[in-house]
Amino acid sequence: MKNRLGLTSDEFLARYTYIKFDEKTSHPYAMLKITEGEDKKCPFVTSEGCTIYTDRPANCRYYPIGQGTLKVMGKDGPEDEEFYFFINEPHCLGFDENKSWTVESWRADQEVDMYDKMNREWKGLQLRKNLPGNELEEKKVQQIYMAAYNMDVFKKYVFESRFLDVFDIDEEYIEKIKADEVELMKFGFKYIKYILMIEETLKVKKDLKR
Ligand code: SF4
Repeated sequence: MKNRLGLTSDEFLARYTYIKFDEKTSHPYAMLKITEGEDKKCPFVTSEGCTIYTDRPANCRYYPIGQGTLKVMGKDGPEDEEFYFFINEPHCLGFDENKSWTVESWRADQEVDMYDKMNREWKGLQLRKNLPGNELEEKKVQQIYMAAYNMDVFKKYVFESRFLDVFDIDEEYIEKIKADEVELMKFGFKYIKYILMIEETLKVKKDLKR
């Protein structure tokens, strides 16, 4: 969305979002600001429709289908179970059409596959909970926000700080995250998992270990 609007991630976040903190995880969420005034609405909607349509986010692509994820016990331990539900609102004119859709045909029509893959990583992090009395420290909260949302700043952090002197990352992979923002976002999830100690997704260089 920020690329579509010709903004840096910093500018996009400052102009269009506010931060909400989740009590159970201390995670910061960038929430879209709805327009002020009586007709509160998405900042990208106009009388001609969505001004960022081909770059609209997954929730807009799915609408009027909602999605959720539950943590369930599988045969090899806890696993995520996805489910869908209808959001039947009177202003959605799609319900007046004769055409029938299944969740699968709607997903294919709205090209949500790549968005789902990215969101699965994010949902996995959302389902984590703080241990009682153990809120995340401020520095980690800031790092999560940067690695999840502020891609331009995260890129600078990776490539212009001592980051690559500290972590042992394959040269080919470094080039990949430098050239491709989607890969950089995926790397952001790895970094979040590392700082939350969910998974050892990164390794400190051997000569820096004590
Ligand atoms: S499709 Fe999504 S981004 Fe576009 S105007 Fe509607 S709510 Fe906003």
